Amino acid sequence: MTLTRVCQKPSPENTCIGWVGTGVMGVSMCSHLLDAGYDVRVFNRTREKARPLLDKGAVWVESPGQAAQEADVVLTMVGFPRDVRQVYFGEDGLLEGIRPGGICVDMTTTSPDLSREISQRAAEKKAFALDAPVSGGDVGARNGKLSIMVGGDWPVFEAIFPLFRLMGENILHHGPAGSGQNAKMCNQIIIAGTMIGVCESLVYAAAAGLDPDRVLGSVSKGAAGCWTLNNLAPRILKSDYAPGFMIDHFIKDMGIALEESRRLGICLPGLSLVEELYKKASAAGHGCSGTHALYTALLDSGK
Ligand code: NAP
Repeated sequence: MTLTRVCQKPSPENTCIGWVGTGVMGVSMCSHLLDAGYDVRVFNRTREKARPLLDKGAVWVESPGQAAQEADVVLTMVGFPRDVRQVYFGEDGLLEGIRPGGICVDMTTTSPDLSREISQRAAEKKAFALDAPVSGGDVGARNGKLSIMVGGDWPVFEAIFPLFRLMGENILHHGPAGSGQNAKMCNQIIIAGTMIGVCESLVYAAAAGLDPDRVLGSVSKGAAGCWTLNNLAPRILKSDYAPGFMIDHFIKDMGIALEESRRLGICLPGLSLVEELYKKASAAGHGCSGTHALYTALLDSGK
């Protein structure tokens, strides 16, 4: 399918979708496309993790390159920038298989530079690329209520919009390639601040002998209310540290934001401090826990 055809509006009748990366976020996001009736070709490093999608009718392919050969639009949701490189530029990678007029959309949180590189390499193959990282966590992915931040050519964004709409409810275009990733970095800078605030507040509540559930009942309804407080503080109180959003992924994001901020000539001391605390938490063995496990790391460091 060419861009012109996609502009006519993708539908299950005229569009085959490729999906790469079926972890915490990818499985839920891709499920919404299957539920809408799309024909989906799926690939993941560990095949078993694609099982819920295969059970719903997705067809397994052997590589990102094969997904790109067979599909009109390929969406990717892998972990780290090195995974994105492997998926797009590696052997039998997506950009090896992509057809002229094909569209690839990287929804991984990665570096703006890498998104620009993908866009350039796609253009060399007369194909199109968008960066479209998301916010809203595992809950937002499951409920199709993500906030999607998009960079790349406007006509391609418009063309793909109906697919984004199946996964998210707040979808904004931010500018040329890499702009979606930059918007996501703004999001992560806020999350770093709210996360340390929520965790330190609960450490304080416990030390002051307060009932933490009652404290949450008060503060979540006041000016401190936010997504992190509403969604993650209750998990902390149940000692449920499953990801969610992994600490090592957050360290990756803070590293990207700090590198970009150096390039932009700005200084973000709050972010640097939170990054340092998270690196300690990861070194203490919490890297694969949810980001709210910073709470236990803070308790341990206070002992
Ligand atoms: P995840 O559970 O680790 O999923 C990543 C998936 O990508 C895994 O299934 C992994 O395969 C697969 N993968 C990695 N390299 C691959 C490759 N070369 N070829 C094929 N598949 C590959 O991570 P996630 O929580 O879904 O997060 C995905 C991205 O979204 C990250 O960039 C994260 O920062 C971002 N994000 C996460 C959240 C959240 O709340 N979780 C929210 C917003 C944004 P294996 O199964 O073999 O590991």
